[in-house]
Amino acid sequence: MVGLRRARSQAELIGNTDLLLIPSLSKLCGSNIYLKCEFQNPGGSIKDRAALQLVQDAMERGELKPGMTIVEGTAGNTGIGLAVVAQSLGFDLLVVMPNDQTPEKTRMIELHGGRLMTVPPVPFRDENHFYHTARRLAEENPNYWWANQFENISNMRAHYLQTGPEIWQQTDGAIDILVSVAGTGGTLAGNSKFLKEQKPELEVWMIDPDGSGVYEFLLSGEYRATGGSMTEGIGIMRLVENFRHAKIDYALNLPDQDLVSIAAYVREQDGIVLGSSSALNVAGALFAALQHEPGKTIVTFACDLGERSISKLYNPEYLRSRDLNPEPEPIDALKERY
Ligand code: PMP
Repeated sequence: MVGLRRARSQAELIGNTDLLLIPSLSKLCGSNIYLKCEFQNPGGSIKDRAALQLVQDAMERGELKPGMTIVEGTAGNTGIGLAVVAQSLGFDLLVVMPNDQTPEKTRMIELHGGRLMTVPPVPFRDENHFYHTARRLAEENPNYWWANQFENISNMRAHYLQTGPEIWQQTDGAIDILVSVAGTGGTLAGNSKFLKEQKPELEVWMIDPDGSGVYEFLLSGEYRATGGSMTEGIGIMRLVENFRHAKIDYALNLPDQDLVSIAAYVREQDGIVLGSSSALNVAGALFAALQHEPGKTIVTFACDLGERSISKLYNPEYLRSRDLNPEPEPIDALKERY
């Protein structure tokens, strides 16, 4: 039995996640598409890694001291990750989030002992945006430490130091293509930087949802973000420090309808119930695979599981309310389009 852990706190269980083949899609495209199972983290998502690194680095720098309160603005998963880390390491936590996030996530922050403050889902330029609110709270209270996952590069360091090396080892260096969505860009930056240092010819694909500003920015140098996707936690609306470090070869914009279709297919064929951003990742991985001859090794992330998307991605009524078709497009038609 290799790699089983005995931990003294949940924080010690963060990272070292497994790699899982998606058999149906791998057969369809002739390349191996693997999922890095980030839902195995104790807080249930990839953001546990960033949460731990942000806190550990701040403690090491002496910025975050015992008795202080961690404050962060987040759409959810970072809040859960920080709640797990704060509880494990003995800090209080205050999470500022927009009030349109799924209750599956907000309730988990509270159940893990975090305090919640909700703000309206306003554009970034509005002073009431969750980001500015968290910053202001930390400025006004010397006992608060602001994690600032967008600009604090401990976020990408988590992936540079841990996730990337794990993927390298788990694929025996055979990874050809890395596919990732971006929220803060921490996942994309840390992994792409580490893996390209090992293998410069590695191809890195960024997958972006409907309405994100980054795809438009990379194309035209202008921000035209509309924020129209049902996905939560991804689609960068502005250029942030973590994202700046990403090494991207291709950026791909995929519509929500594609992630609905892919999520349904993978659920039916493989029994994997993907979260929304993970479904977008998988659709992107299939797209990337189909631009190549078969035989590639492709890795993407199951950032969280579908239990956090039950009221949206797995709710036909919600999908119809957004003019999305709950009936998936046949996979052969999707393949043909890709
Ligand atoms: N998927 C989900 C479900 C998330 O919550 C996030 C982060 N908000 C991401 C993907 C993106 O991760 P990163 O911040 O590292 O870009």
